[in-house]
Amino acid sequence: MMQATLRDAAVWCGAAVEEAAGGAVFAGVSTDTRQIKPGQLFVPLSGDRFDGHDYLEAAREAGAVASLWQRDRAQPADAGIPLLLVDDTLAALQRLAAHYLGALQAKVVAVTGSNGKTTTKDLITSVLSTRYRVHKTEGNLNNHIGLPLTVLRADPGTEVLVLEMGMSGRGEIALLSNLAKPDIAVITNIGEAHLLQLGSRRNIARAKLEIVQGLKPGGVLIVNGDEPLIDEELQALELPDPIEWVTFGESEACALSVSNIRVTAETTRFEARTEDGVHTYEIPVPGRHNAVNALAAAAVGKALGVTPEQIGEGLSAAKLTGMRIERTRASNGAVVLNDAYNASPTSVLAAISLADALAGYRHKRIVLGDMLELGPDEESFHAEIGRSLTPETADFVYLYGPLSAHTAKAAEQAFPSGSVRHFADKRELTETLLRETGPDDLVLVKASRGMKLEEVVAALQKGV
Ligand code: ATP
Ligand code: MG
Repeated sequence: MMQATLRDAAVWCGAAVEEAAGGAVFAGVSTDTRQIKPGQLFVPLSGDRFDGHDYLEAAREAGAVASLWQRDRAQPADAGIPLLLVDDTLAALQRLAAHYLGALQAKVVAVTGSNGKTTTKDLITSVLSTRYRVHKTEGNLNNHIGLPLTVLRADPGTEVLVLEMGMSGRGEIALLSNLAKPDIAVITNIGEAHLLQLGSRRNIARAKLEIVQGLKPGGVLIVNGDEPLIDEELQALELPDPIEWVTFGESEACALSVSNIRVTAETTRFEARTEDGVHTYEIPVPGRHNAVNALAAAAVGKALGVTPEQIGEGLSAAKLTGMRIERTRASNGAVVLNDAYNASPTSVLAAISLADALAGYRHKRIVLGDMLELGPDEESFHAEIGRSLTPETADFVYLYGPLSAHTAKAAEQAFPSGSVRHFADKRELTETLLRETGPDDLVLVKASRGMKLEEVVAALQKGV
């Protein structure tokens, strides 16, 4: 993590600090007094509901050595710890991170896209860790606050930083990219997440492509080659500096293409075709889409000189963040694939194709909750999912939430009667699943975060 004197930090983030306090050293920063550690610098941020400036005392009691302080906030008569006065604490946090990043001299890999950022970030990290000291975004800390905090947590000596960049509107990826100045930027795919805010998939592609704005001259852009919108929008961009551009995907026209994908409930094996030949890789997570994510990780590895053998080692050893197709068991022995972390049409179709690829179960059961934030076409997106469900993909389909009624209606036609059911009540859904699932069943659970279907997974695990 970052260590510095208050004097240096003040210079880096444009703060004023009393001369007498300047020599004090802090190690690490925190914006949250519930997690702050002794010796850290407290960064109070103002949100819609809370103002961090109200928690100065808690920060001091927890051992903060100093705090940033926004000039427009009334200063306490006796803060008890030195205050570094700034115009805007968030901007100061970002400046501090940008400065630290410059000092680290690590390579920066930035990952954005509609789906698969966290998974791909974890796969990239595992590939690069075979050769480098790598620091990555923890969990999903991928926004204008999480990204600088991630940077500041990197230890000196870090050789590569792998940073997830999330967004919900225009301009956000540009800000993150300009802060992080990536050497390598990855766009996993373009989906429908945030369609509500951005209006069209083309606008989503444009927003993701903002990642080139901070790309270092001579940097490498690694993009999904199966998505024509990326190609079109990239052609239309006027890039100030030449960049190298690498594609990955299922199409053979991609520089790295994936074929012969074999999926089990635990793993995915696939062949990666690259200009240096064909390599067989395996990842400890199921799904065709994850083979494509792994290909993006292989492309990053290749760009940073990792050998195909090391890439294979890294991919097979990858540790993924929870709730992305997490395999668990119900108390009655059924295999549960918990993908309840989030959902959009692209990721639900990916989950359905995963269920389709899995064989050897007594019954395959798919549990889908509503996909949220899809904008005015939300009903037709749900109907489209319904049409993609077939008796080959699943024996039974359980749908939950008001929008999922449209999924149910579209799916019913293809299934024997009674195999597709819609639930308005989560308890009823949970009780039905507990009653109907059994050993040797496969149960795939997926929905938007707001639907909280992990509660259903927890009930299946507990069996009550
Ligand atoms: P968030 O925007 O919440 O940070 P993310 O982009 O980091 O999401 P992950 O957390 O890796 O994405 O995965 C989220 C969901 O998307 C998972 O449920 C997973 O099944 C699905 N998914 C992952 N990769 C892909 C892909 N390449 N194509 C389609 N769906 C995918
Ligand atoms: Mg994520």
